[in-house]
Amino acid sequence: MATAVVPKVFKNFINGEWVESRSGRAFENRNPANHNELIGLFPAGTPEDVDLAVEAAREALKSWRQVPAPKRAEILFRAAELLVRRKEELARDMTREMGKILAETRGDVQEAIDMTYYMAGEGRRQFGQTTPSELPNKFCMTVREPVGVCGLITPWNFPMAIPSWKIMPALILGNTVVFKPATDTPLSAYHLVQILQEAGVPRGVVNLVTGSGSQVGTPLMTHKDVQLISFTGSTEVGRKVSEACAPEFKHCHLEMGGKNIILVMEDANLDLAVDGAIWGGFGTTGQRCTAASRVGVHKKVYKEFLEKFVERAKKLKVGDGLDPTTEMGPCVNESQLRTVMEYVEIGKNEGARLVAGGHRLEHGAYAKGWFHEPTIFADCDPKMRICQEEIFGPVVSVIPVDNFDHAIEVANGVPYGLSSSIYTRDLQKAFRAMRALETGIVYVNAPTIGAETHLPFGGIKHTGNGHREASVAALDFYSEWKTIYVDYSDRLQRAQIDTGSFGALKE
Ligand code: NAD
Repeated sequence: MATAVVPKVFKNFINGEWVESRSGRAFENRNPANHNELIGLFPAGTPEDVDLAVEAAREALKSWRQVPAPKRAEILFRAAELLVRRKEELARDMTREMGKILAETRGDVQEAIDMTYYMAGEGRRQFGQTTPSELPNKFCMTVREPVGVCGLITPWNFPMAIPSWKIMPALILGNTVVFKPATDTPLSAYHLVQILQEAGVPRGVVNLVTGSGSQVGTPLMTHKDVQLISFTGSTEVGRKVSEACAPEFKHCHLEMGGKNIILVMEDANLDLAVDGAIWGGFGTTGQRCTAASRVGVHKKVYKEFLEKFVERAKKLKVGDGLDPTTEMGPCVNESQLRTVMEYVEIGKNEGARLVAGGHRLEHGAYAKGWFHEPTIFADCDPKMRICQEEIFGPVVSVIPVDNFDHAIEVANGVPYGLSSSIYTRDLQKAFRAMRALETGIVYVNAPTIGAETHLPFGGIKHTGNGHREASVAALDFYSEWKTIYVDYSDRLQRAQIDTGSFGALKE
């Protein structure tokens, strides 16, 4: 099947034109399953490119915000249709540039489709409130207004889904966008922006600048004409984003790291829990913010669960994600692979018991890629670094727990708070866990991954800063409420002061 790549040398998209970076330089995008394969050359953006993109977005804002939202929605709807039509080629290109297996990259594109349709629907909603006034002959209502120019900075692990979580709500509310994707996944960003262009997004409304965090991300988040930054990535960079946004009080939304857990109680359906731990731990090669990198198992079923889990992990077929029989792809790049290998050493030195994997795969079919075995540590202490720090690779730490309360204590004993899950057939335990787990997302009898676009997505503690993506929650971040009072009494009425003496009311 052909892929969607046409040019090998790609450009930025600024003010409705595909343009080279002012730097004249480019960076390489290579296939992590075969680093001999050059996917393309992408512009190494500079602060000057960011200035041009922000200026275009600022200018376009004047008219875009006036376009009736249902008309904006028609463009989004057309974009969704194009995504549907091109889903397979987009998925294949995504697998080539970042390694996820095809089933998952199809899911990634599908999430972008779902979000685009969903936000197109908001073109005819964006509900505000009308409420009674405390005074006669006075009318009260709220309307949503765009925030302005939005700087959107995204990671590589969901190359089309995460950008769509940000771009689509921004657009439907009348904002304009400067989009800076991760350097590992510029091709998917290119496709998404090209589709928006084809769908009819006017000049300057969406701008794409590829390049590094320091040369594109930092100038974008510190730019005086950018009113809003939405960032998904590591907690370390997220802190910098937060600090950069503070002096000018920019709207700032951060979605950051996770150290998610699956809890397996003594009454769980163990085979179901093993299915969940395999998918949650090794899906996307463990490179999901919601990956189940810890599994806490009740001591009564610990041995049985571990045996089944290890047996299944050892059988996982690792390889090129384009091969339909592959179950786990490579790490996204060499540096991510090195991080995984370092954590395996850390785990061994901390005294965790290595029961599956533990090695890089580098011979034969693996020689040209960044592959690592699915790896399991058993008998882990919840305070070990491998149980506390985000590894972002195919490494799962299994922790024995004594009882329900201990399980919750272990689950909550990390700095992050994105996703958690409990496997139990006991309704009381399930409901107590839903209340006690300190995460933005809780699953019952399902793994820690599997968000749907019409529900709020995000985390607490060091994962997030109080906002949510997707669903109607996203509308709150990408709009300002304007509260409007219309007094048609033809006299001065003072709220809180003129109470109780309304006199004769006229029709
Ligand atoms: P990263 O923090 O290294 O990079 C994220 C983005 O920020 C990239 O576009 C990068 O170029 C940019 N960036 C890097 N340094 C910057 C700087 N100094 N100034 C401005 N921009 C900068 O993260 P990553 O490696 O791309 O992605 C993995 C991380 O993302 C993990 O921590 C994962 O948990 C997190 N993540 C979180 C969620 C969520 O919704 N909570 C979803 C996916 C990924």
